[in-house]
Amino acid sequence: MFPAEQCWAAVQARDRSCDGKFYYGVITTGVYCRPSCAARLPLRKNVRFYATPAEAERAGLRPCLRCHPIGADPDAVRLSEICRYIQSHATEPLALADLAARAGLSRFHFQRTFKAAVGTTPKQYQEAFRLGQLKNGLRGAGDVTEAVYQAGYGSSSRVYERADARLGMTPNQYRRQGGGVTIAYATAESPAGPMMIGATDRGVCFVQFADSAEDLLAMLRKEYPKARLEPMREPADPEFRRWIRALTDHLNGEQPRLDLPLDIRATAFQMRVWKYLQSIPYGEVKSYTEVAAAIGQPKAVRAVANACANNRVALLIPCHRVIRGTGEPGEYRWGLERKRAFLEREGARRMRP
Ligand SMILES: [Zn+2]
Repeated sequence: MFPAEQCWAAVQARDRSCDGKFYYGVITTGVYCRPSCAARLPLRKNVRFYATPAEAERAGLRPCLRCHPIGADPDAVRLSEICRYIQSHATEPLALADLAARAGLSRFHFQRTFKAAVGTTPKQYQEAFRLGQLKNGLRGAGDVTEAVYQAGYGSSSRVYERADARLGMTPNQYRRQGGGVTIAYATAESPAGPMMIGATDRGVCFVQFADSAEDLLAMLRKEYPKARLEPMREPADPEFRRWIRALTDHLNGEQPRLDLPLDIRATAFQMRVWKYLQSIPYGEVKSYTEVAAAIGQPKAVRAVANACANNRVALLIPCHRVIRGTGEPGEYRWGLERKRAFLEREGARRMRP
């Protein structure tokens, strides 16, 4: 396949000579097309390229009704329909025999044809689609994962709370499917020094700063002792790259609002504090006392400070926006110098005497 920019040029030109050489998918519509498709040109950021229709199907996309990227090949059309069927029944157990009957093929022939065309077995296809769903469903939702809890904190008897999770399947199912939790991580140079971002399939679980990549890895290991830690492979997952870009843009002052899916465990109290912190707008600060009052526990000032100190996703849970009532910055898990810099960048009012 051509490099992505060449593909994009061909799509913009609706270059017929490229038909069959690659396909493009539009993640916002869930449709994939031939390069020459007459449909309205999508935004570049929503476009992905695939060498074959099978690859696009594997990414959960469906063929465009306008340019018929899989052509009139009845087998391909039927398999694509089966993919749709699996998608719409993704959370149910699907028997191979039923799928084969639906495709009008023998079980053995069906499995083989499906694998040859799509590149996975129907079962793997269903699992991959479900995991993708999970990720989409959680976009923008603050979530406390049972799975991470399970991976790293199984012996703890504290009370955990799951908040607002819009899951495509129950955590139980997720655990069965996902096994142990894997955290992919990458370090990036940021205006606030070396930064590490760690994420599960469901969202960001770690954003911290330190003086070196080694220190950051040690910190990650300490937070999630039982999780499987994997350096983000290259090229990084597009979603993961988007998260890193959002964070660095934010640090450069280009993106005030950070809205990334989180995947963190918390006690019920921590969760209340952290949710509240997320509601403090860019450019504003609150005192520890104000936060305690706002969550209905005015006496819990010290506990609020502790919850801030235990935050493991810097910026995404903006604990730097909580300061002392006197206007002094108070403490910060990642150093006062960073806290001051973040508040200054945000133009936080109470910091300026
Ligand atoms: Zn099309």
